[in-house]
Amino acid sequence: MSNLMQKPRAMTPAPNAAPTIGPSTIAVHAGEMRQKPGDSITDPIFCASTYTFENTQDVITFIEQKLPREEYGRYGNPGEKVVEAKLAAMERGEDAVLYASGMAAIVGLLMTKLNSGDEVVFFDECYHRSREFCSKHLSRFGVVTRQVKACDYVAMESAITPRTRLLISESPTNPHMSVVDLERFATLGKKHGIETLIDATLATPYNVQPLTFGVDYVLHSATKYLGGHNDLLAGVLIGAKEKLEPVRRLRGIMGAINSPHNMYLLSRGLKTFELRMQRHNANGMAVAEFLAEHPRVERVYYPGLASHPYHEVAKATMRGFGGLVTFLIRDASWRETANVIDAVQIPRIGPSLGGVESLIEQPLVMSYYECSPEDRRRFGIPDNMVRLACGIENAEDLIEDLKQALEH
Ligand SMILES: *Cc1c(COP(=O)(O)O)cnc(C)c1O
Repeated sequence: MSNLMQKPRAMTPAPNAAPTIGPSTIAVHAGEMRQKPGDSITDPIFCASTYTFENTQDVITFIEQKLPREEYGRYGNPGEKVVEAKLAAMERGEDAVLYASGMAAIVGLLMTKLNSGDEVVFFDECYHRSREFCSKHLSRFGVVTRQVKACDYVAMESAITPRTRLLISESPTNPHMSVVDLERFATLGKKHGIETLIDATLATPYNVQPLTFGVDYVLHSATKYLGGHNDLLAGVLIGAKEKLEPVRRLRGIMGAINSPHNMYLLSRGLKTFELRMQRHNANGMAVAEFLAEHPRVERVYYPGLASHPYHEVAKATMRGFGGLVTFLIRDASWRETANVIDAVQIPRIGPSLGGVESLIEQPLVMSYYECSPEDRRRFGIPDNMVRLACGIENAEDLIEDLKQALEH
């Protein structure tokens, strides 16, 4: 325990050092000094773009010995270091690198690790912008992206060539909530000497810790459950320190850094992480069960339901299944589906997920409006699909509201 809240800038408690320490204790205390400037219980916000040295010798000592102190704001700030250590501890990783958004984190990793001629293999159910970055932009630098059906490990293995450098998936996937068998995925990478990345934004370290299954990198859009209040953007990569060192260096050049104010918000959001996740998990489950029984609902995608194709994998590997519930409205046109969304009173209409406020959207309209019908079919986005990100409101109220909207 003392290991967790040590004095000078106690970086991460050693990975797996104390698996008995609970998620809330880690989220509240890890990475923080016990005694802080001004004797404040909260971390101060240092509004500084640069950090000063007492004299020239101090500059030289810092450069030669790489002492743990700040230098210039684009390379990091004290608040960010605290949150990096906290997130590494929460994920049972050695190190974490924070970015200004989840997309900046994935771009940062891919730009560090890939060279012209290299290849990446993706499971095809993925965040639309990650796919766009690979197909439209990495391709310009001669990187080849291959997509295979989500959770088809045989297809993934067949897509591997001697130039493959990274295997990438989300788990659970958005919006279909397919759950990856992380051990199988990590083993596939190790067998071929290829690094693996899991975007675990929808799971969070409360529900699953991919590094413990042998995955090399975990990515989160901290904009979602980690921040948790729909009031900030951030992204993070977690993994081995040595592997993340070049990633951190490129981040210092890209400048996709967080402001000290943003880090205060993220740190504050993380204090209630476990409490929020317990409620998101409970709400997701209750709402999914209600929808599965409703005559106007054709299908529900939620890994907590026994009817979900990946229920067994999810049950074996996850503590809970999160707040995101996707469903299809029976025999509904896109307009009739929109009418249900417009009739909902509590969830607000908007993209994103993982915040205290519930959000609802029609993927066809919100994220795939500019796609051709063929592409939407390929990506599995039917016109009657609804994505509901349950917040932390009371489940009975969310269910009552959905009921009136479905029967509108
Ligand atoms: C939101 C999201 C991202 C992108 O994160 P931003 O913080 O919006 O840049 C990446 N992956 C998943 C699964 C997401 O939900």
